[in-house]
Amino acid sequence: MRKKIVAGNWKMNMDLEEGIKFAGSLNEYFKNKTDVKVEIILCTPFIHLAVMKEMLNQKKLAFGAQNCASEDSGAFTGEVSARMIKSTGARFVIIGHSERRTYYHEDDLLLNKKTIQAINSGLEVIFCCGEVIKERDQEIHFAVVKKQLEDGLFNLAPEDFEKIVIAYEPVWAIGTGLTATPEQAQEMHKYIRTLVKGKYGNETAENVSILYGGSCKPSNASEIFSKPDVDGGLIGGASLKKEDFCAIVEAV
Ligand code: PEP
Repeated sequence: MRKKIVAGNWKMNMDLEEGIKFAGSLNEYFKNKTDVKVEIILCTPFIHLAVMKEMLNQKKLAFGAQNCASEDSGAFTGEVSARMIKSTGARFVIIGHSERRTYYHEDDLLLNKKTIQAINSGLEVIFCCGEVIKERDQEIHFAVVKKQLEDGLFNLAPEDFEKIVIAYEPVWAIGTGLTATPEQAQEMHKYIRTLVKGKYGNETAENVSILYGGSCKPSNASEIFSKPDVDGGLIGGASLKKEDFCAIVEAV
């Protein structure tokens, strides 16, 4: 049975004090909940990671980073390696978010190197893929996602692929208030699962969690998450509001 997951992507929000306060309030909220059968992950800026280990009940709330370096160590000023992230107690890292692809020109080759670094360091990877609006209008969105997965992930050994969670995030829906319809999400998630099946076989395809991301909010979460190939969400803006984030977790 594949896991249901809700991952919050805080992006570049919350200073140290705000992050501690916010994560503390989530920790408190989920502390006594026994009916939540969802893996909840907080993907925070790097500055919060070491503190999260101390403050979160990790049986309820896992945490991770939003990026990692493509190299292991050395003269790469300003970078943070996957091994450093792992040393904080983090379990996860997001790789290939569209904001990294767009603003920092991260291409599939680089994202593949980052993924390999992350896995070799013992992290699990939330690997993002998704088309821009022009590509959907041109009806090449399936081809775009296929290439992102083939070039970013499909050289992984089968045992390494087990450390991957895929997040389908149509770029036109991220932070825009536009959301893929549940049918559009299901269609793409099913396609992604078929690609994984073609490469790694049926068991792996059935086990991989595929999250939807793009303007998820409490009002649309239940409908999207009710689709059979949607195994949860990667949540940006709504992960910064306790009530919204908790409501989305409960929708899953
Ligand atoms: C994201 O940043 O991954 C995301 C899905 O953002 P939002 O929920 O704000 O669209």
